[in-house]
Amino acid sequence: MARLAGKAAVITGGNSGIGLETAKAFIREGARVIIFGRDRATLDKAVEELGEGAISVQGDVINEQDLERLFETAKEQFGGLDILFVNAGIAPAQPIETITEEFFDRIFDINVKGAFFTVQRALPLLRQGASVIFTTSIASTLGMPGMSAYSASKAAVRSLTRTLAAELVERGIRVNAISPGPIETPIHERSDLPSEVVEEIGQTIIQQVPAGRFGSAQEIAEPVVFLASDESSYMLGAELIIDGGMGQI
Ligand code: NAD
Repeated sequence: MARLAGKAAVITGGNSGIGLETAKAFIREGARVIIFGRDRATLDKAVEELGEGAISVQGDVINEQDLERLFETAKEQFGGLDILFVNAGIAPAQPIETITEEFFDRIFDINVKGAFFTVQRALPLLRQGASVIFTTSIASTLGMPGMSAYSASKAAVRSLTRTLAAELVERGIRVNAISPGPIETPIHERSDLPSEVVEEIGQTIIQQVPAGRFGSAQEIAEPVVFLASDESSYMLGAELIIDGGMGQI
């Protein structure tokens, strides 16, 4: 029996990395999926890869009209929503003294405000029993140099996970989060740095991971399926940490 049979899902940032692998897993488990992202070309490529069961909406999580269009499409296509994976995010690194207000605001606009208003706009569509899943990060609890603004933004998302879980429980909506460690996705690509420096940064990160490697996006997608499914029906306000032991041992 497919674990998400008949369920309707929206995934923000569904055209790349963790979001795209999760879209594949959702479809494999019988869900219909709308992927939302900024880039038309990667959205089209992703829909082609996902096949039947997937459609895309292009837009930006910081644009109110784009979010409205996303959920109008979900209403037209599905009538309501069972799963909302609030996953779109950016993770630029900078030492504190070089961080401008613009840089800081951009991270918070996308990672925090974007996540908050994605849920607010989706609310009228979320059915009794719906599952909302945020993507936080192990960076929100570890002291990682260069990640101050990003880590603080993901700590805010951890807080949203708990407060919205408490606020939405009376509507029959569950809110939880996944907290990934270092996962091999395009988010780590740095066109501004020479490839050997990027490689060196990767090696430094790996040294801090007891599992001795980056995780794969599939290794995040499967726990997201669990949180999206009724198998996790007694979980509310929880954060599943999937980090190769980085923050645990
Ligand atoms: P990714 O770059 O492959 O995916 C990020 C997605 O978010 C992309 O589809 C991108 O287009 C989308 N996005 C970014 N800004 C957007 C905006 N303003 N509007 C709409 N879409 C937007 O990277 P990923 O690793 O798959 O990242 C997914 C989530 O996982 C992010 O929230 C990230 O912070 C989080 N995360 C990643 C890691 C990791 O090591 N890869 C670790 C912890 C947390």
